[in-house]
Amino acid sequence: MLGIGLIKGLSVTFKNLFTPIFTIQYPDKKVGLLAYSKHINKSIFQILKENPKIFLMGIIGMVTIPVKIDQFPRFRGNEFVWYDDRCTACASCAKYCPLGIIEIVTHPAGENMQAGENYAIDKFDIDTGRCMFCGLCVEACPYDALHMGTDFERGNYSRVNLVLDKETLTSQDKNPSSWFRPQFESNEYNPWEESMSNSKDAGRHEKPSYQKIKEKWVNKRKTDG
Ligand code: SF4
Ligand code: SF4
Repeated sequence: MLGIGLIKGLSVTFKNLFTPIFTIQYPDKKVGLLAYSKHINKSIFQILKENPKIFLMGIIGMVTIPVKIDQFPRFRGNEFVWYDDRCTACASCAKYCPLGIIEIVTHPAGENMQAGENYAIDKFDIDTGRCMFCGLCVEACPYDALHMGTDFERGNYSRVNLVLDKETLTSQDKNPSSWFRPQFESNEYNPWEESMSNSKDAGRHEKPSYQKIKEKWVNKRKTDG
């Protein structure tokens, strides 16, 4: 019959008009006054007294509150955490990266000449816009200076801003990774509440003492030999 297809199509539209909405607003969602008062743990009267504008927006359901989803501590996020104090600028991470997206530029620092001299890092860039998060760079790091953190909210409007440079890596929050770090699980680590501001907090081993190094590489070999 002519027009039956139109009726069928409109019936689907009409049905969906009354079904619940599954859209989840993230990272903020709009709520009404009651939900907002529950969120900030204040009564509606307090909100009215302290912030009438928010009160009015709450009446029309337009107050925004942040939404955070529960995250499993073992989650490996799409960010990098770099401990510059542990990094020797050896560039193993850059060499192992199959996409060649880690760029390291160094110059001789003129320190520790007897031990072979240190390198100062001028540039340490990771282009996360092209990264496939395989983790080979993390595995390649001999000094435990790089890992993938638990953060993932790194959405950006420009690909250029996805390049993590030395300054960003140094200044950003140090979110620990539970990848190969079961100690976080046993410590009941909560990625939403904790941060690892330096490499010692992150459960990394200490630099061995001179005595221990000598024991391992000199004394033991003498006895074995
Ligand atoms: S995770 Fe993989 S692709 Fe990304 S920087 Fe490391 S080695 Fe390269
Ligand atoms: S492999 Fe580790 S120590 Fe070497 S440059 Fe990369 S982060 Fe630094």
